Amino acid sequence: MGDSRLKYRRRNPYNTSSNKTRVLRTPGGKLTLLHIKKAGSKPKCGDCKAPLSGIPALRPREYAGISRPKKTVQRAYGGSRCANCVRDRIVRAFLIEEQKIVKKVLKEAQQTKKR
Ligand SMILES: [Zn+2]
Repeated sequence: MGDSRLKYRRRNPYNTSSNKTRVLRTPGGKLTLLHIKKAGSKPKCGDCKAPLSGIPALRPREYAGISRPKKTVQRAYGGSRCANCVRDRIVRAFLIEEQKIVKKVLKEAQQTKKR
C-alpha cells in the first residue's frame, strides 16, 4: 500500500495481491493512488521448469492480444520446452531408433546362422 492518508479508489478494502497501489502525482499536483496490475510471470519449460527465453512475461489475458510469433520460438516444441530439453528429446529418440536397428540386424544375423 502507499501513503496511509490516501484512500483506495476502488471499493476493495483488503490488502490482497490484486489490490496493490502506489502513490501517483497527477498533472494538477495532487497525490492519488494508482492501482497496479499484477505482474505477469515468464512461461516455464514443461520439463525442467526453467523460464523460456524469447517470450514476454504477461498476464494470461494479455497473451490473447499479441501475435503468435511473439508467443513462441521457431523450433519444435518452441514456446513449450526449452532448447536443452528439445535436444535431449531428439537425442533420446535417435538412440531408441538406433537400438531398434541394432536389434533387427542381430536378429537377422542369428537367423542366417541357423540355416
Ligand atoms: Zn527444459
